[in-house]
Amino acid sequence: MSQLYRPLNILGFAYREIKQALTDLERMFQLLEEQPEVVDAPHAEMAANVTGRIEFDQVDFHYDPDREILRAISFTAEPGQTVAVVGPTGAGKSTLSRILYRFYDIAAGAVRIDGTDIRDMTQASLRAAIGMVPQDTVLFNDTIGYNIAYAHPDASQMQIEQAARDAQIHDFIADLPKGYDTLVGERGLKLSGGEKQRVAIARTLLKDPAILILDEATSALDSATELDIQSALGVASRGRTTLVVAHRLSTIQDADLILVMEAGRIVERGTHADLLERGGLYADLWLRQDTNDLDMETPGTVVAD
Ligand code: ATP
Repeated sequence: MSQLYRPLNILGFAYREIKQALTDLERMFQLLEEQPEVVDAPHAEMAANVTGRIEFDQVDFHYDPDREILRAISFTAEPGQTVAVVGPTGAGKSTLSRILYRFYDIAAGAVRIDGTDIRDMTQASLRAAIGMVPQDTVLFNDTIGYNIAYAHPDASQMQIEQAARDAQIHDFIADLPKGYDTLVGERGLKLSGGEKQRVAIARTLLKDPAILILDEATSALDSATELDIQSALGVASRGRTTLVVAHRLSTIQDADLILVMEAGRIVERGTHADLLERGGLYADLWLRQDTNDLDMETPGTVVAD
């Protein structure tokens, strides 16, 4: 009899596993359906020859209608300028960059590029004008060369290497036994957060966009890596309007404008020197940084993610 139970047990287990998998799939589709849809307006036009002037004009935003995330955000970045956003965790810094890329539509106000509301541009042309270096870059199970060039299959080996040089990752790659043919990703060489971010910067350099968004990795980086990223960013942002979501103050001291956010609002703005002189939240964060990690909680901050 017990010989019969075993296969039945296994069958029962398999049934439960499959049922759970189907439930998970169903839930995933529900979630996908719940995502607010960003669609091109019928009159949307191609954004061409973007110079990169960015303007947030009294922007309000929420993911869920009952929880306001951004309130009355206004700032302007002139072409070629670097604007850095700092503030405690959950303040809404990354949300700002997602809105510029138009992952989500806003509740009130306007976001303009070169004076045109981004809702009046096709999403394809908007995103062609923006290079996004996210916190965590997804790598394909392929060679590191492929990973740098995947959006530009026509790029020559020379162009790929130049982008890697500018992103301060070439020497690292050249030292690998198989160089640019080294397999990376889940089934290959695992790259650190800082290395992945430099691969993403190299990708962006090949794309050559007018606007660059850099969402700094939150993970602590050793100081050599941080210097490499800083100098990669220096090259990448040259001649482009750059929005940096900063988790370390050391990387943004030269920014043209620093926005200090707290609980969805801009509470201070200015250059590094302006803000230190002001003696407010920025100066406080500056004095308190010991590991250069800004993601400290301030009193009253809700940490929700
Ligand atoms: P960190 O420094 O930790 O990266 P942040 O300042 O970048 O934080 P955001 O990621 O912009 O903060 O998040 C702002 C708020 O929005 C947080 O309270 C977060 O929980 C919430 N939030 C972020 N993404 C979503 C989402 N997809 N759906 C609902 N709420 C979200």
